[in-house]
Amino acid sequence: LKLNNSNLSKISERVLVPNYNRLDIKTGIVHVGIGGFHRAHQAYYTDLLLQNNKNKDWGICGVALLDFDTKIYNTLKEQDGLYTLIIKELDGTHTKQVIGSIVEYLFAPEDPVKVIEKMAHPDVKIITLTITEGGYNYNEATRGFDFGNTLIKHDLEFPNNPKTIYGYLTQALKLRKERGLKGCTIQSCDNIQENGHMIKNMLLSYVKKAQPSLTNWIIENVSFPNAMVDRITPATSSEDITSLKNTSGILDAWPVVCEPFKQWVIEDNFAQGRPDWGNVGAQFVTDVVPYEKMKLSLLNAGHSVIGILGALLGYQTIDQAVHNKNISTFLHLYMNVEVTPILGNLEGLDLDLYKKTLLERFGNKNIKDQIERICSESSAKFPIFILPTVKAQLKNNGSVDLAAFIVAAWAIYSLGKDENGVPLVIKDANKLLLDVKATAAVTNPEAFLELETIFGELKNSTKFKEAYIKAYNNITNNGVEQCLREINSNSL
Ligand code: NAD
Repeated sequence: LKLNNSNLSKISERVLVPNYNRLDIKTGIVHVGIGGFHRAHQAYYTDLLLQNNKNKDWGICGVALLDFDTKIYNTLKEQDGLYTLIIKELDGTHTKQVIGSIVEYLFAPEDPVKVIEKMAHPDVKIITLTITEGGYNYNEATRGFDFGNTLIKHDLEFPNNPKTIYGYLTQALKLRKERGLKGCTIQSCDNIQENGHMIKNMLLSYVKKAQPSLTNWIIENVSFPNAMVDRITPATSSEDITSLKNTSGILDAWPVVCEPFKQWVIEDNFAQGRPDWGNVGAQFVTDVVPYEKMKLSLLNAGHSVIGILGALLGYQTIDQAVHNKNISTFLHLYMNVEVTPILGNLEGLDLDLYKKTLLERFGNKNIKDQIERICSESSAKFPIFILPTVKAQLKNNGSVDLAAFIVAAWAIYSLGKDENGVPLVIKDANKLLLDVKATAAVTNPEAFLELETIFGELKNSTKFKEAYIKAYNNITNNGVEQCLREINSNSL
């Protein structure tokens, strides 16, 4: 049974489907980046609200911005925006549900004007984003907007035919201003610390150059709430698609799989109102920063730690790697010794329980989160997930040995082979540069720290550099597993 609107009533005999009339739902949110995470998280929360027969003004229009997104766009078009969410419970069972909150979908490369008009539509009050860490165009070395990006250069030259999020947002906000419309909320749902401030600062940098007269209007009329997002959502595998077909008879070209845990802590700062996501489990707070810091430096960093170490040891999935006692003990140590001291006040949160739950979540055998996915774009992830911890620990005169070990492992991983010589698939916007520096590091480990946009000033810290070089040589001489054994036994 093919998943689409006309088959919904038949599908309802097999799995939960939207109990609301999707034709009644008005689009109040434009979301850019309709990847797996958006569909497991925000679209799911929004669907829960619609199931409660609330918030009919908050349907989602999903925008695919990149040429690369043809497949997801065509899938959503074929399936009337519907998809199946498969929640992989800890006990091995699967909870399946058809999500209906994406009521419209647009493919930007096909019709940029349509996307700009949609973002400028008076009914649209919120523009949300999951454009990945790399999509923000932030340069760590200059701590500013990367005007060297060729697509940004293109958008500055051809503002009516943009290719980047900045080109689109600028044109849409310009239209809102010219038409005397209200501003809106631009809400990042990416894994970036103070993601609201990030998108605000990057957008304003771009606008000051592209449309200077729009700057003040944006400052006065657009809000950029920070938010912490969490739900492990691995890439969908062909087995997931086949299993859905075999167990429920549903033909869905791109279901989404995720863990049961979900968390969304949002700064309550919305220019034109918001859905009642608080009714379905989201938490609205005045300051998201401490929660974000906790999550990025424990969960996201934890993922990168297991991913990089696991990749070198030849594991394919996160759960396999975390069931290696040496890796999980190392991660436990890293979280307690180097991360916990830098965390702020987390009112209402049991940190020990959070860390314990994390290891259980990583170990969920049903999630099969691909190490390749977790390690992809590490050059954008390390500066956000791991290096802030290093900087804070250096400031506190705390230990950085464990983080330095992870960076050394990443340098060796960047050579593109695991410890058995099996090639690793490295997906990274900076792949070429990583390649050059990782190769130079074989004879001179320090060379890897010369990746300016990633490490910035850190290469000048003697304490960090020495710990990193020691770890690099140790891994090269003894292998990851032996090093982990030593570190763990020395620290326990
Ligand atoms: P995905 O690969 O399924 O989707 C990525 C989406 O980002 C695609 O729609 C793509 O078009 C878009 N994108 C990528 N680069 C872009 C750019 N430069 N401009 C505009 N759009 C761009 O990945 P996903 O699992 O959906 O994850 C996306 C992001 O969500 C992550 O990078 C992270 O910040 C956040 N997130 C993911 C998870 C997870 O477990 N998957 C958990 C929490 C947060």
